[in-house]
Amino acid sequence: MTVGVGAAPRYIGRFAPSPTGPLHAGSLVAALASWLDARANGGQWLMRIEDVDTPRCVSGAAEFILQQLAACGLLPDAPPQWQSARGALYQRALDQLVSQGHAYPCACSRKDIEDAQAALGHARERHAALPYPGTCRHGLQGRTGRSWRFNVTDFKQKRALALDSKALIAIYSVAINLLQWHDRRLGPQQQDVASAVGDFVLRRADGFWAYQLAVVVDDANQGITDVVRGEDLADNTPRQILLQQALGVPTPRYLHTPLVCGDNGEKLSKQNGAQALDLTEPLHALSDAARVLGLPPLAHPHNNCISDALALWVAAWRRNYNGPS
Ligand code: GLU
Repeated sequence: MTVGVGAAPRYIGRFAPSPTGPLHAGSLVAALASWLDARANGGQWLMRIEDVDTPRCVSGAAEFILQQLAACGLLPDAPPQWQSARGALYQRALDQLVSQGHAYPCACSRKDIEDAQAALGHARERHAALPYPGTCRHGLQGRTGRSWRFNVTDFKQKRALALDSKALIAIYSVAINLLQWHDRRLGPQQQDVASAVGDFVLRRADGFWAYQLAVVVDDANQGITDVVRGEDLADNTPRQILLQQALGVPTPRYLHTPLVCGDNGEKLSKQNGAQALDLTEPLHALSDAARVLGLPPLAHPHNNCISDALALWVAAWRRNYNGPS
């Protein structure tokens, strides 16, 4: 795959919101952390609007998110990229995976998959997704393909991938089937992708591009060196590393930030009705996000201006995470 950004960047970070609603206290934590990490490393901070899941997107939400970020002093270093305009890149990546034998068409409906899982004696736990049972891996048997899947099970990556000195080392070992990676906050991580998720979707039956493919293609195309995002996405990282290996693009460093939970103990999300950030009190919202990130409180919260507060937190972030190089 061709990476569209020029010569060896030292640090390019990004914030990649899905425009399914306004920013809330939880998403501001990820936005602030990715901005601070970019600034602490003298890098660039890019913005990507992840609007591939069109049915879930809310009209005007992306523009509102950009306004909310601007009100918090978090300004991207380049105009935002929109995933909805990048279908040709995703198609090219899918074509590459198909031609390499890493992707196959799948005819299964959700019901087919549940029936096949039940036949294997797998009972679904609450909220737990069961791995795809591999029904179409070796052919459609006369059925019509609806979606495209990545062939995790047959993907054999024997090479250890070592990035620069302090970066992650990703190893996909055929023998132990375990993908190991390093998170800058959570430390060493591992997942057996085949048994945890199985062959995952690249293009959905409704024709929309799946998050996993779009995010990997875009991170590579935008030359992203550092992904800083919420911890709820950490278990997607092994799938993304496998795709990076299959497409032959670099694996960024990863840092997953703490989540903000609501009164019910569940992660705040647009789906469970998290409140939009109050644009009239950006410093207050930023201070809450900084506290979640373990950054120092402002000595005089009412006298500070946003730029002073951000400068204080950049310095603290640099001490905590010490830069990636
Ligand atoms: N678009 C995703 C979200 O809003 C974030 C994806 C990412 O940062 O990789 O949850």
